[in-house]
Amino acid sequence: MKYIIAFIRILFLALFLFLLVNGKVLLWLTLFAGSLIAALIFGRVYCGYVCPMNTLMIPVERLSKKLKLQTAKTPRWLRNGYFAWITLGISIVAMLLSKRLLHINLPILPFWLAASVLVTFRYKPEVFHNLICPFGALQRTFGRFARLSEKVNKDACVGCKLCEKVCPSNAIVVSSEDNKAGIDAALCHQCTNCSQVCPKSAIHFGK
Ligand code: SF4
Ligand code: SF4
Repeated sequence: MKYIIAFIRILFLALFLFLLVNGKVLLWLTLFAGSLIAALIFGRVYCGYVCPMNTLMIPVERLSKKLKLQTAKTPRWLRNGYFAWITLGISIVAMLLSKRLLHINLPILPFWLAASVLVTFRYKPEVFHNLICPFGALQRTFGRFARLSEKVNKDACVGCKLCEKVCPSNAIVVSSEDNKAGIDAALCHQCTNCSQVCPKSAIHFGK
């Protein structure tokens, strides 16, 4: 399963680079817009499978851990969660103004791609995914209404927390009250990392 997912991610990364090199990156934004509709049904599959930032952040996170650069801390000024909305607003205004005044398409996607890699060298991936990424802010808004998502069968869950450790977006948390895992669909990338490690096969994609 993980090899198939990696293959899909690399395919989309190659498509992104192809569009970028050929000056057609606006087409990617069309794909992103479509993914918001898809998120209402399938959850944030764009984040888990399509997003070039996520695809690059995965090896960067491994490298960061290996080099012991990663910190578990989150900058205090990011914690209230508003910053991703500010980055979204600034990105839209900058794109519109550069098009209108300078007649150029601002390379906003490559900018965020570089930012995601730099942030992930230092912080856990959930910091960029949940607190900085302007695209993630929109995906969160649509993803919370997903008809289908990864779900935990509470009867099967033994509260081992293995799923928590592999989640890139802090979407799955074992409750201290009942010692059972639960998934927040707004944060979940549907990446299946958690279901792949669950020793009780307690996690499935469904209604
Ligand atoms: S890995 Fe499975 S059994 Fe362990 S806490 Fe997560 S859902 Fe429960
Ligand atoms: S809850 Fe599971 S499927 Fe969702 S983002 Fe976390 S690891 Fe991936």
